[in-house]
Amino acid sequence: ERIFDPELGEEETKKEVLLRPKDFTEYIGQKKIVQNIDVMVNSAVKRNQSMDHALLSGPPGLGKTSLAMIIANALGSHLHVISGPAIEKKGDLAAILTNLEARDVLFIDEIHRMHISVEEILYSAMEDYRLDIVIGDGAAARTMQIDIAPFTLIGATTRSGLLSNPLRDRFMAHFHFDFYQPEELAKIISNNAKKLSLGIDEDAELLMARCSRGTPRIANRILRRVRDFAIVRDSSHVNINDVKKSLEMMEIDERGLDRMDRRILKVIQEYYGGGPVGIEALCATLAEDRSTIEDVYEPFLLKEGFLIRTPRGREISQIAKELINEK
Ligand code: ATP
Repeated sequence: ERIFDPELGEEETKKEVLLRPKDFTEYIGQKKIVQNIDVMVNSAVKRNQSMDHALLSGPPGLGKTSLAMIIANALGSHLHVISGPAIEKKGDLAAILTNLEARDVLFIDEIHRMHISVEEILYSAMEDYRLDIVIGDGAAARTMQIDIAPFTLIGATTRSGLLSNPLRDRFMAHFHFDFYQPEELAKIISNNAKKLSLGIDEDAELLMARCSRGTPRIANRILRRVRDFAIVRDSSHVNINDVKKSLEMMEIDERGLDRMDRRILKVIQEYYGGGPVGIEALCATLAEDRSTIEDVYEPFLLKEGFLIRTPRGREISQIAKELINEK
């Protein structure tokens, strides 16, 4: 299991329920997004209508699902969570849409991976709260229209560029999530430590925050591992040594890079003379899936300036070269 993989399975997500922020006051950071969403929610409540559809984009683990839950709570409506690639047939999505109640929120994760034939159902549903279903083939084909309750679609995507234009255009608001600042992560860690009945020193909190690569879900995961260290020495208070020891065991360095990050940089340096290298060749050498490299690892390496994207492929930067030579 890769501690830094923010795309872990469902079981992990269930464990994280306790740590999810319950309302806007518990939701740290992403200030501009929260301000805008707050206005959209309040307007919908005052109008007694559904909120406008919103698209949330950004790397995994930055709080898109949590925000959708808070929105549904604030609207006093139900949240229905589905994953784009899991919907295989038009009928499956039609069934979900016809079961929605007025002002419900439908959250579609990884909406860019939804099949195009399924996606088409959403166009009229989002625009006119209506399903256009074609029955039969050829000359005998007829279109049947079914009204559905006015609802809010919240789409989440790690790659908004892969969304088709007709779908993207139907979202009234588009919010891009940025990585969190260390101080924001420290606040999230401090709040979540309380929820886990754990005391924590400030320097320990800050070190964890700095190594969480700007991602709250990773901060939570590191917090759990660090808690284990404290528990093993019969304490419910985390100190900086617990953090240092667990980071060392997880092979996370002081810049927040883990083994896989370092491997990516090293492969580019050693196999491709520092780059540029095309993404396909890089993925083949690493034996990793392209979307995993592009969605999970790259955004942080790019943001921190270790990796550079050029039209001819990926290159590593001078700081990355120095880092590799240090080891
Ligand atoms: P994905 O894109 O993979 O669905 P996500 O962006 O939806 O991920 P969440 O599942 O919402 O991420 O967040 C993961 C965890 O991180 C939450 O359970 C919560 O504990 C914490 N978290 C995320 N964002 C915030 C925030 N802004 N304030 C406080 N805690 C947060």
